Amino acid sequence: MAKLGIFILTTAIWLLAIALSAGNAALPEGARYFTVVIDAGHGGEDPGAIVAGVREKDLDLAIALRLLSLAQGFPGLRVLLTRTSDRYVDLVERVRFAERVGAVLYLSIHANACSDPGVCGVETYVDNSRPPDDPSWALAQAVQWAVCAETGAPDRGVRTQRLYMRHTGLPAALVEVGYLTCPTERRKLLDPGYQERIAQGIFQGILDFLGL
Ligand SMILES: [Zn+2]
Repeated sequence: MAKLGIFILTTAIWLLAIALSAGNAALPEGARYFTVVIDAGHGGEDPGAIVAGVREKDLDLAIALRLLSLAQGFPGLRVLLTRTSDRYVDLVERVRFAERVGAVLYLSIHANACSDPGVCGVETYVDNSRPPDDPSWALAQAVQWAVCAETGAPDRGVRTQRLYMRHTGLPAALVEVGYLTCPTERRKLLDPGYQERIAQGIFQGILDFLGL
């Protein structure tokens, strides 16, 4: 009898733990997993920034593909990419795709460039039409923190500008994983090990946001 009591108690604690670990994002009704859409910026005829022969679109895709393999086999999460090859996808179509597949969030991966080679580090953007209570800010902050923690890159913070993500109501953010114009950072961005750490950071930020 005592054994049964312990079993019931253990089961109750286990169920409570599951309920609590659901975190701040509720799983959609009937769904067994969260669907997350990851976007590799640019593609095809749009290379993004090109610095010292490095094309941003290739780096964006390499990181997105690493994130996809990190997520494979992770229970509770289904990651889909807007592109898996070097092709251009219309920007509004990217967020429409996320809506069609029932995604709970949309995250776009980019690399930055500017005229000052001394500017280095990570920034995450939210569209400037989003109100202060929009969950996109929490998503952006979670990704920003986790990528900086994982890579040790300078934290240039969460920022806002006009983005095509205004065409969806989904929580959405755009991470600029580093500056191609910063010579030391460009060397790191080309290193597969560093790309993996960026992917791990983004993945962790998504898990943190979803409370997984
Ligand atoms: Zn870009």
